[in-house]
Amino acid sequence: MKTSFEFFPPRTDKGKQSLVQVRQQLSVVQPEYFSVTFGAGGTTQEATLETVLDIQKKGAIAAPHLSCIGSEKENIIKLLDQYKLAGVNRIVALRGDIPSGVRDIGDFHYANELVEFIRSKYNDHFHIEVAAYPEVHPQAKNIYTDLQHFTNKVKAGADGAITQYFYNADAYFRFVDEVQKLGIDIPITPGIMPITNHAQLVRFSNMCGAEIPKWILERLKLYENDLDALSAFGTEVVTDLCQTLKNQGVDSFHFYSMNRTQPSLDIAKTLL
Ligand code: FAD
Repeated sequence: MKTSFEFFPPRTDKGKQSLVQVRQQLSVVQPEYFSVTFGAGGTTQEATLETVLDIQKKGAIAAPHLSCIGSEKENIIKLLDQYKLAGVNRIVALRGDIPSGVRDIGDFHYANELVEFIRSKYNDHFHIEVAAYPEVHPQAKNIYTDLQHFTNKVKAGADGAITQYFYNADAYFRFVDEVQKLGIDIPITPGIMPITNHAQLVRFSNMCGAEIPKWILERLKLYENDLDALSAFGTEVVTDLCQTLKNQGVDSFHFYSMNRTQPSLDIAKTLL
């Protein structure tokens, strides 16, 4: 069973210290790697680099996310060279979303172009993961074009994919079936979002197009003022989801940890 945990780059000293502890605690389950998110247009470029280098220095494997929208080729090369020098050999390659107010799209329009660029410049140095959307990317014209665009990223050289989070296992299984029918056989790791906060989850889900089933939403509303009950319910739901995936052969899980040890660690432990 493989696990990986996603962090966002902390901005304060307190956040940095806390992340070191979180990483040590999560290491108990011997994760394959820790990934670190990246602000589109390079807004967290330095902080992502710093967090990645810190993880690598401590002997763990870090996988920086790299979004290309709003970037020039030169900047991407500069960053990838720094990663290569530091011994980083995994990348999560993304398009990202253009920040409001930014007009210049830069040298890349879609993630497949970034994947192709990394492959042509760095050959097989980087293991490249791309994003997958079992419930369809929110800007996609339709499910069919979204699947085609996903296959383009894989054909451009992706080694694996990590999904947007979902709470309906059927969406994941159908996505995997459909891309397999299109000739794709790379591992597609489910992205697992623990449930700890009602308002935050609703906000994220509205932004990224993930569906929260009504039966979950109704309970989250009920437990809004009882965080312990909400957390216990959320952990149970997400553990059940992971078990369902595992029972049907999934052997790799990527946790959106939100820079917290729990509940990701408890859920991961039940899978091992
Ligand atoms: P793409 O694969 O390029 O797809 C984007 C959209 O364009 C889709 O609707 C697709 O169907 C469409 N499309 C693709 N090619 C074409 C084409 N040729 N013509 C027309 N339409 C096309 N965001 C961040 O800013 N930082 C992060 O660190 C980050 N990490 C993420 C990690 C994971 C695992 C996931 C699932 C998402 C992450 N995101 C992150 C969010 C991601 O950047 C957004 O979802 C973004 O809108 C799409 O990025 P993508 O790489 O999936 O884009």
